[in-house]
Amino acid sequence: MLQPPRSSLQVAAVPAQRVPVRNRDQDAPWHTEAVCRRDEAGLFFAPSKEPTAARLSREEAAKRVCGRCPVLAQCREHALLQPEPYGVWGGLTAAERRVVLARRRRRDLELKKTARPTTDRIAAAG
Ligand code: SF4
Repeated sequence: MLQPPRSSLQVAAVPAQRVPVRNRDQDAPWHTEAVCRRDEAGLFFAPSKEPTAARLSREEAAKRVCGRCPVLAQCREHALLQPEPYGVWGGLTAAERRVVLARRRRRDLELKKTARPTTDRIAAAG
């Protein structure tokens, strides 16, 4: 069965399934505490052609695992910063991470808009 490509390390978590392709977090120890280190049930990544109901059920089960993980925040931020395109990371699905990233982009744009007048005033005064 073909697994989706992974763009980086996830928690040394899951055996071969979650082995990083690109390990930028080698110095970050958070993944050593990952609850999903042994994802023998294959909860975190979708098998090919997974029916919607099965996907939703699997994702909810993965999120329950994440819910008791001590490194959820670090994992989520890692997945957002990469960004990780597939799988459940930090209690969020790929679609949920895209929503978070879109919100961050909008927030950053708003901050730039509100910051600009101040910058302009400083430049004018300077
Ligand atoms: S938050 Fe979830 S995906 Fe991330 S390390 Fe913990 S159990 Fe694994």
